[in-house]
Amino acid sequence: MELTLKVIRDTVFKQQPIDSTQIEDPNDKYEIDAGAELVLHSWANLAEEEGHLRVAFLENTFNGRNTWYAYIGHVEIWQDDTKIFPDPPPPPPPPVSILVKDVKACTTSVVKKLDRQIIEEMNQIIPNALVNFEDLNVLNGPAVWALLQPPAKAALQRAIQDRGLPMTINSAYRTIAQQLILYNHYRNRRCGIPVAAYPSRSNHQSGLAIDIQDYWSWRPYLERRGWRWLGPHDPVHFDYVGGGTRDIRSLAVLAFQRVWNKYNINNRIAEDGDYGPITNSKLNYSPIEGFGTSIRPDNGGDIPYRILRLSDPFMQGPDVSIVQKALADAGFNLIVDGLYGPGTQTAVKQFQSRKGLEVDGIVGPATRAQLGLSGNKQVGQSSFVSVDLISQTQEISPIQEQNFES
Ligand SMILES: [Zn+2]
Repeated sequence: MELTLKVIRDTVFKQQPIDSTQIEDPNDKYEIDAGAELVLHSWANLAEEEGHLRVAFLENTFNGRNTWYAYIGHVEIWQDDTKIFPDPPPPPPPPVSILVKDVKACTTSVVKKLDRQIIEEMNQIIPNALVNFEDLNVLNGPAVWALLQPPAKAALQRAIQDRGLPMTINSAYRTIAQQLILYNHYRNRRCGIPVAAYPSRSNHQSGLAIDIQDYWSWRPYLERRGWRWLGPHDPVHFDYVGGGTRDIRSLAVLAFQRVWNKYNINNRIAEDGDYGPITNSKLNYSPIEGFGTSIRPDNGGDIPYRILRLSDPFMQGPDVSIVQKALADAGFNLIVDGLYGPGTQTAVKQFQSRKGLEVDGIVGPATRAQLGLSGNKQVGQSSFVSVDLISQTQEISPIQEQNFES
């Protein structure tokens, strides 16, 4: 890592943070031309020295001194290839998690990222438990997971080939997260859902069901290939009954339990494939954007913390994000990304320097206290677990979905 001061306009380095015309001793100022690039030992942008940076050069001295003030309008600070002063890219706001239980939108497509984690886990437990059928001659609605068990896909392919027309599909595989959202809507009398199956009981969770348009025309082609029409009370729905399939509903539950446990090592649940009240509660408290993507944006609550320092590989986790956010709130330039990299270390050192702490770039109890983060419980590094913390509800604007039957 190298810090560089780039002089972008002809300027005067000064021993005091005032206008150079007010400095009388010629040894206390030094003219320098635009284009100069000087390696820095450190720098500070301190509020009480408004309009100036204090810079300490690593290799250069001017008038025998290596520490000077520079007017902020005339210089830039670069860390390797990244400009960190002025105007660093604003740190992206930490994403705010929306939990499954808080989804009020009438579409289940909002939970697709969590769905994907569950589906990937299913296919890790049993390869090709579900296969994608988007390669067939089909038109799928936006919330559709185009997944079926392999024999059901093969039979669907033959039916479509028999008729020689594209099939429009409004629902196929449904994850337990999607089903729980529908079930919650039903329980809360939202979205006009008259009835919804409890998660893991819907036949759309078997990977053997489809809801289609133009069902009357398709019915003979599908029935010839092992698909059964459910009947006039749910005329869009067909189930594959042709055999060679398995009941994957408990597999979906097991997959969710395993995903939950990967990201909540201190709050594990049984991996039994059984959709009981505990699994239901954990699914309700899962973030719709999937695990591992966000942290609580406020103070972090009871996140345990480690002693943070620059290391290889970088330390990573919500405790890092919390320290970064506290530093950013204190006016330091850094990206809140949960990685304790060189930029974070630089900001920590600047903060320690400002507070009169030992400038070691290590965030221990003293530095935490000065950052206003002293309340949490410290844990040893080896036992630290990256807990996916979730929070704040946020209503999503409703988007109507075409199909809600159970
Ligand atoms: Zn259906």
